[in-house]
Amino acid sequence: MITKELLQEALDQDTLKQGSAILAKIPKGERHSHLLLSAPLDLYKKLSSNSFFVPDKFKNYQEFKSLIKEKFIPLFKLFDYQRLIIASAIERFLSDENRQVITSLDLFAAKAATLSWDEYAKEIGAVLNDFRGRLDIKIDLGLDREYLNSHDFSSEAIEEALSCGLFSGIDIYGDESQPLSKAHYQLISYHKKQNLPIKIHLGERDLEYKKFESELIEILDYVDEVQHGMHLIKHLQLLKMIKERDILLNLSPASNIALSSFQEYSQFNIRGLLNFGIKVTIASDDFAIFNRSISQQYLELYKAQIVSADELEVLRKSSLIR
Ligand SMILES: [Zn+2]
Repeated sequence: MITKELLQEALDQDTLKQGSAILAKIPKGERHSHLLLSAPLDLYKKLSSNSFFVPDKFKNYQEFKSLIKEKFIPLFKLFDYQRLIIASAIERFLSDENRQVITSLDLFAAKAATLSWDEYAKEIGAVLNDFRGRLDIKIDLGLDREYLNSHDFSSEAIEEALSCGLFSGIDIYGDESQPLSKAHYQLISYHKKQNLPIKIHLGERDLEYKKFESELIEILDYVDEVQHGMHLIKHLQLLKMIKERDILLNLSPASNIALSSFQEYSQFNIRGLLNFGIKVTIASDDFAIFNRSISQQYLELYKAQIVSADELEVLRKSSLIR
């Protein structure tokens, strides 16, 4: 378990990276990561024909999205590269004792490598087999909001992906300043009725959530977990809904800071969420870009004095509960 003594020992190390190696020995769960962006950055640089640079801070979400589109997505054309990235990402989860991992693979992943979803599922199954017995991993289908703005909720691509046997949930991500379309509601309500766990990225940006109140309340009625969610703290109605429905918030402070949605760790009022009765976990999101393991974020939050050792232990336990 995480104790005050262990955290002090971690803080006494020369760097936060070295300190987080001490917390890395404690088992924890990872519930918010995008698998093809979860390996260490050096691997992508090695696979890429052109050199590139990842900034510590992005001006906005668009700048981040452009970098992914230009430098990372082209690498996914070769399944051999995807295989290397996925194996390396899993090794990294293991190196941080992420015993239970729920991660996502995007709707474009199979097509990018010119494979059918059935072929793709078989290949991924072989990669996961190499790690059998070492971790418990579940994969969600990652869906960009934008896709559902121009496609039917039961498009051929979605149907094919969800029937290949690889996925045990859905995770909707993307620019949340755009209103959700009818297809989002249809997708979420349909699959929730089929008992498929639903996650959605929300509260990642400092938006006027009041404007989206009715649509978000409707959506939250079907959601099991929210990725990010920190900015929802200013919205009492949504927080009440999250508490009532026991929705888990999987925060990634490192990601929010890199995307300039928050400036520093001290701004994450995690204690406020816990005191309200909301369950929270910490997750790595896109490790390739944000370069912070769960352990390192635990340490940064503790160092910023916004969570106690006991509260971190609550967060750690929440990451392993379901
Ligand atoms: Zn995410």
